[in-house]
Amino acid sequence: MAKPWAKSFYHSKQWYKARSQYIKEVDGLCERCLAKGEYVPGVIVHHKIHLTILNINDPDITLNKDNFEYLCQTCHNEEHHGQASVIRNDLMFDDKGNVIKKEN
Ligand SMILES: [Zn+2]
Ligand SMILES: [Zn+2]
Repeated sequence: MAKPWAKSFYHSKQWYKARSQYIKEVDGLCERCLAKGEYVPGVIVHHKIHLTILNINDPDITLNKDNFEYLCQTCHNEEHHGQASVIRNDLMFDDKGNVIKKEN
């Protein structure tokens, strides 16, 4: 669900490399669940400082491991949208965080 301006970054070799190295370092586990003593495989390397159109070309933010956090889907949803449980299968968030119906 990358935003259009972030697409080329998420497809870049540097990102793939930084991402896979980081996942190895955290043993492939969601860091927030691990902190609660739960072993949950992560799915997404989240940027603690969220990527924006203004910092997407700044490697100190986009490729900096200090800014990475490996999360499972649930923790990632909570980080970006609050409680994950409010969203239904046929609904999604648009870029502004509004709930909209999924288009198929
Ligand atoms: Zn988690
Ligand atoms: Zn994120």
